[in-house]
Amino acid sequence: MLDAHKTESARKSGSPDTVNVGLLAFQGAYEAHRRVISRLGTNHIEVKTHDDLRSCTHLILPGGESTTFLKLLEYHDLTGALRDHADSKKPILATCAGLILLASTVKPFQDSLGILDITIERNAYGRQVDSFEADLTIPTLGDAPFHGVFIRAPKISGIGPDLTSLAAFEDSHVFIREGNIFGCTFHPELSSDTRIHKLFLESGT
Ligand code: GLN
Repeated sequence: MLDAHKTESARKSGSPDTVNVGLLAFQGAYEAHRRVISRLGTNHIEVKTHDDLRSCTHLILPGGESTTFLKLLEYHDLTGALRDHADSKKPILATCAGLILLASTVKPFQDSLGILDITIERNAYGRQVDSFEADLTIPTLGDAPFHGVFIRAPKISGIGPDLTSLAAFEDSHVFIREGNIFGCTFHPELSSDTRIHKLFLESGT
């Protein structure tokens, strides 16, 4: 059973099992992320308090509604703990609304945490009915395309010099990385492909 709680690289290196993935669980698409993390056999908890967040090695900020997340983060006084998590280089996987929370600039203007040096435009492809799916080329994951599900997705219109673009679609970045922080404008938890979650899990071990 213990083995099932280790990430691939922890298994290879024989390092102790220390991975504990936190799923911000106020609202939004965290349940689908949980299913992926479970399939990968990794420890995880729901994050709703400071103590939950501090006990995590990795954090997933799911999609949902960024305006609601902002209010709930403030209400539960979690903003500082989230910054501490990022400052201590612990991995974060931020998807869609979760990524909007981390951006330095949001258009139209909305408060954000400014943890990632990106400009992001909310609902830039249109409304819910304009949601779409597309096969993405992501060289860092290998040759097989990754099936991206975009739901009322934002567009990243600018990235700072320290960020790496891992994938683009049409004219904008859809998957970016800065250190151990990964950001997707699509929903990797909604395809059956676990490669993005594996990359995230292995980034901190
Ligand atoms: N449109 C949402 C927002 O701006 C994000 C949608 C999503 O997370 N799928 O917060």
